[in-house]
Amino acid sequence: GKPFVATPARTKEILSKYQFTFKKSLGQNFLVDVNILSNIIRHAGIDKSCGAIEVGPGIGALTEQLAIHADKVVAFEIDQRLLPVLEDTLSDYDNVRVIHRDILEADVAAVIKEQFEPEQPVHIVANLPYYITTPILMKLLRENLSISSLTVMIQKEVAERMAAVPSTKSYGSLSIAVQYYTEAKVVMNVPKTVFMPQPNVDSSILRLVMRDKPPVEVNDEDQFFDIVKASFSQRRKTLLNNLTSFWNGRLDKDAISAVLEAAGIDGRRRGESLNMQEFADLANAFTGK
Ligand code: SAM
Repeated sequence: GKPFVATPARTKEILSKYQFTFKKSLGQNFLVDVNILSNIIRHAGIDKSCGAIEVGPGIGALTEQLAIHADKVVAFEIDQRLLPVLEDTLSDYDNVRVIHRDILEADVAAVIKEQFEPEQPVHIVANLPYYITTPILMKLLRENLSISSLTVMIQKEVAERMAAVPSTKSYGSLSIAVQYYTEAKVVMNVPKTVFMPQPNVDSSILRLVMRDKPPVEVNDEDQFFDIVKASFSQRRKTLLNNLTSFWNGRLDKDAISAVLEAAGIDGRRRGESLNMQEFADLANAFTGK
């Protein structure tokens, strides 16, 4: 039959047939390397029992491989111009649903309930548009979806921040936010050459496995995340100084020192040295303040 969509020749043929012009503003960098796609599918743990959700199918490079390896694929695409292209490139597969919607606006929980079997494992797999990687991932993580994992191609530096451990350069509030919901791992770095057009940044495949429950107990999640963010707001400042700026007079420095002491955390430390349990202890010590 036809070569896969994710080959340079077939992609060029499709692009020229539809006179498609890339929109940089939508993060359109299409994959043209079947080997990379095999790696994504393998790391995602996809098999014929699984449902797959894709964000941004483009012209269907990854979608086609998901259709071959999964039971069913549901893909959200914002760019209307791609709908007729996908209808064409995926016409051989009867297990794909394309939904024309901005993923940030989509009711993903309702779609999962509607499109997949109740007990079916569902995985999110995507080559994400880089301009909104973090908003997309945080939306999907916060909504308490019935999904098993997310395996995503994203900017290398962002992947490293999401998977970072304490006391490293990449560790920050994004590491805590992502690892509160998932076990995060960078599984592979990917060269620019596998994309058309080639992006300006390097990429990595990030694997996120959903946790059954958060690894720490916090009294108030919003306050926990606020305090984590505040602790990193000026990386070179001490915890005491960052938290003093955060409370902005609503709690004075002595009161903040007392809370730090109650939590068993030295205020002279920097945010980057605290692990998630220490941030939870710290936030919980501020409960009700
Ligand atoms: N999956 C394809 C591939 O790997 O070749 C395309 C990946 S491309 C990096 C990102 C895709 O996401 C594009 O098709 C783009 O139109 C789409 N997209 C951008 N913003 C989106 C949004 N908010 N919701 C859904 N899709 C979006």
